[in-house]
Amino acid sequence: MGRRDHEMTLILPDTPLALVTDLRQLLGREKVQHDVPTLTAYAVDASIYRMTPQAVVLVETEEDIEAVVRFAGSRGIPLTPRAAGTNLTGSAIGSGIILDVSRMNRILELNEEERWARVQPGIVLAELNKQLGRKQLLFGPDPSSGDMCKLGGMVANNSAGPHTLIYGAVKDNVRAMRVCLPSGGWLTAASLRLDDPILADTLTTHPALRVILELVQSKRAVIEAKRPTVSKNSCGYNLFGLVDGLAQRRFDLPKLFVGSEGTLGVVSEATLRLVPKPQGTLTALIHFRRLEEVGEAIPHLLDLKPSALEVMDGNTLNLIGRAAHGIPAAAAATLLAELDSEQGSDDLRERADRMAGICRRYQLCGDLAFAYDKEQRDQLWKARKALYPTLYRFDPRKKPINFVDDVVVRAERISELVRYLETFFAGQQVPVAIFGHIGNGNAHIVPLLNVNDRQDFDKMVAAYHEIHQTVLSRFEGSICGEHGDGRVRAEYVRKMFGEDLYGLFVQVKRTIDPGNVMNPGIKVSDTPFTEHIDYTRLSKSCATCAKCNSVCPVYDVFQSEDMSSRGWYEIVTAKDYSYLQSQRVVEACLNCKSCRTICPAGVDVSELILQRRAEQPNRGSRWLFALQAHVPIFEAMLKVLARTQPLWDRPWPRRLLARLAAPFLRRIAPTAKLPADMQLPKLATEHLRDRYRNLAHNMNRRTAPRVAYFHGCAANYFDDGVGDAVIAVLRRHGVEPDLPPQRCSGTPIETYGHVDLVQEHARFNLQSLAEYDQVVTGCASCTLMLKEYKKFFAEEPERQAAEALAKKVRHITEFVAQSPRQPAMAAAGDVGRRITYHSSCHLRAAGVMREPRMLLKQVPGTDYVEMTDADRCAGGAGTYIVKDYDTSQKIFERKRRNIEQSGADTVATSCPACMIQLNNGLRGRAAVKHVAQVLEAAYEAATREQGADGGARP
Ligand SMILES: Cc1cc2nc3c(=O)[nH]c(=O)nc-3n(C[C@H](O)[C@H](O)[C@H](O)COP(=O)(O)OP(=O)(O)OC[C@H]3O[C@@H](n4cnc5c(N)ncnc54)[C@H](O)[C@@H]3O)c2cc1C
Ligand code: SF4
Ligand code: SF4
Repeated sequence: MGRRDHEMTLILPDTPLALVTDLRQLLGREKVQHDVPTLTAYAVDASIYRMTPQAVVLVETEEDIEAVVRFAGSRGIPLTPRAAGTNLTGSAIGSGIILDVSRMNRILELNEEERWARVQPGIVLAELNKQLGRKQLLFGPDPSSGDMCKLGGMVANNSAGPHTLIYGAVKDNVRAMRVCLPSGGWLTAASLRLDDPILADTLTTHPALRVILELVQSKRAVIEAKRPTVSKNSCGYNLFGLVDGLAQRRFDLPKLFVGSEGTLGVVSEATLRLVPKPQGTLTALIHFRRLEEVGEAIPHLLDLKPSALEVMDGNTLNLIGRAAHGIPAAAAATLLAELDSEQGSDDLRERADRMAGICRRYQLCGDLAFAYDKEQRDQLWKARKALYPTLYRFDPRKKPINFVDDVVVRAERISELVRYLETFFAGQQVPVAIFGHIGNGNAHIVPLLNVNDRQDFDKMVAAYHEIHQTVLSRFEGSICGEHGDGRVRAEYVRKMFGEDLYGLFVQVKRTIDPGNVMNPGIKVSDTPFTEHIDYTRLSKSCATCAKCNSVCPVYDVFQSEDMSSRGWYEIVTAKDYSYLQSQRVVEACLNCKSCRTICPAGVDVSELILQRRAEQPNRGSRWLFALQAHVPIFEAMLKVLARTQPLWDRPWPRRLLARLAAPFLRRIAPTAKLPADMQLPKLATEHLRDRYRNLAHNMNRRTAPRVAYFHGCAANYFDDGVGDAVIAVLRRHGVEPDLPPQRCSGTPIETYGHVDLVQEHARFNLQSLAEYDQVVTGCASCTLMLKEYKKFFAEEPERQAAEALAKKVRHITEFVAQSPRQPAMAAAGDVGRRITYHSSCHLRAAGVMREPRMLLKQVPGTDYVEMTDADRCAGGAGTYIVKDYDTSQKIFERKRRNIEQSGADTVATSCPACMIQLNNGLRGRAAVKHVAQVLEAAYEAATREQGADGGARP
């Protein structure tokens, strides 16, 4: 392809609006999006590029895929398939139509005996392996992006990861796939014998494939002459795999489509080869004094059949911080080795001894560290996993730029390559991290650059050519091991394979996709890699890695980038952001803060959204929060409602209430409602502060330490037993708490943008809590908010008080975990036999994750079981359950499934708001309790057993 891809026969599209109207006629309104926020969200993937599409289609069926492919083909509009958008090369963005397969995300068939699964392209790798894990099976290829990347992208990119050494890349693990070809015809791509009648039929139906077969047969020598001699290659089309198939008298079609990066068709399903889940794994961490010796050790270590061999060079160790990870100052490189076994620990220990024997031949820093159980193994991986956060946060201007990120050399030459790269970047004075899958000789090279600076930009271009050229000529390696060519390496594919083989690639592409509609600009293109670089984004803090999408509950439901954390970052930070235009998406966030907890770059998308909402406070909710601030009137009204609840909280009055409330709620949000069948919390006829009057008014006590219980609204107004339990638990630990005057912490108010009201409440609480040594809470959201009041007082005097308060706030689970007292516990009848924990999002955001689980594990008479996705939002999010009841219930579906699969009869949590959602969603299928209630029940049972009366009484 001598010409640039944009010079090919593309018919210019009609106006985008006509395009969207036509697409909607084919697919229905909801599946086709073209509003500005959606296009903004889909303009990026995890690469350095930006391209704004004209429309986005969210396909749900094969019919949808075919309709879009035929439509794009007939109009000559570029079509880019997309899964999770985590590729690092710009291959999931495009200027035409984006075809997002995320909603096609099921396992269609699983054959445990023969160990294969037929899956749709939108399933996330981690989700697939969670489901397979229940059957003791595993899909082997494991890119580090496994929590977010999806099978369609993995297949199209021929992804791999640390465990490629033992499981191979995706191309080694796909048995068959269904592909919608650019012609609109469907192909079942399997490895077929050349004399198989099915192949004859296939070639008749798809004459283009006959041309390819003949091409590969006739040009075998050309292909063989350029076959990469390294163990991993994802550059170009895999004609080598087709030649290998021919050697066995087969046309191995999956080899052509795996790794084709959406340029040859759209994959609607893949049949994957599965492996048994290993019964035991050993992780070892080894620090080498001399880089060269790592290379020398590799061939010997490979004899042990490791499942992973990962290396980090000295620069990388400096970047992540040696002291923080216990890495010796003298280490020139650190090696992570992993061994899997199906036989168990004896086999692992024997191989560990052999590994130690090999490594001790070299100069090591300190001893080898071995770990067998999951927690300790995670500890050893910690330094490696700290890499991305470190790179993303390294410098506000210098960013990790992926442009030479994926080279491969022969494994025994990896030290030589690393040494060359270290010298090269030292010469450029560019900080760089060099790490990767050393067993395969696959190095990930991530320089930190400010591409908006002319000098850094020039360094990037020079490094691109120099490093790729050196890898090819001096190391006889490959420029691409697993990340794909995309836009970033397309320019170099010709240089890697030479004119003849590159010419064959072009012929393959033209034969299958004569209109160059499928993902133009990717793989076979001469466009320079510097075109479409997103200079604006590269000056922002988000690395567009999509890790946040993997935990965003809204994305989980909608599977659409405009309804996702990463997408929202793009939307709310866009130069031409407008609330009016973006209201739909900006109002959809739950403020669960899961994105912030997980983001390796330290970005807080939820906060950015709250700031945008504060620019347009929600008028419909203002009266409610203003009323809440008039405490006596508000509480009097709540008491009337509480006393009359048995009358109005019944089916038909609730139906009437739902109707009466509708106009008011609609003013808050078009989606808001109070459905008649929603299980409301029971209102307390006597509020907590009334029940514990002596604590609420005992303000002159001067015994140390002075502990305040900040009960918040729910524990005060609801008859949920949480407040009583927290007070009782505090007493068991020898503390008589005060209940100082307090207002709503402000969390729900902030989510509607009323920052002035939050400040008012915060000032009140800051003053009221100032005298205390400790402030204990039982609510996750209050815990987080009280710790973060300072953000509301940038320059004001309250900032100091807020900083002081942040240090004193403890959730009750933290308080108990740190308490010097250990009251006796016994099995309590009402706790249940099997207990699981739903981790409240705001408590995780406040950094409290270990304590509730640790305490629950100590409770006698009940088995603790960790449910799958315990750390995922349950969808309640305070008032969100009313603001968007339908979405909140869809979010809860996953939680319900996981609770049921855990087999627990009790779900404990740390927040009264989560209890509302859990109770509403579970409807008695499991008991719902606050951790404080579980603890108090166990303390009380012990007291009863001892015959003493030590319980808490008001
Ligand atoms: C932090 C981080 C770490 C990473 N680590 C690794 C790693 O260890 N190993 C590795 O290999 N990669 C890694 N990657 C790159 C990337 O995650 C993988 O390539 C991943 O498999 C892409 O999957 P995706 O679902 O995001 O695909 P996308 O980015 O959406 O798409 C990738 C390609 O697949 C095509 N495509 C998607 N769906 C289809 C379909 N149904 N039919 C046809 N074509 C389709 C797209 O057009 C595009 O060309 C990493 C990325 C990040 C951000
Ligand atoms: S906000 Fe953080 S987690 Fe989300 S895409 Fe950006 S860098 Fe990744
Ligand atoms: S706060 Fe929750 S809902 Fe909002 S963007 Fe973050 S993860 Fe998604």
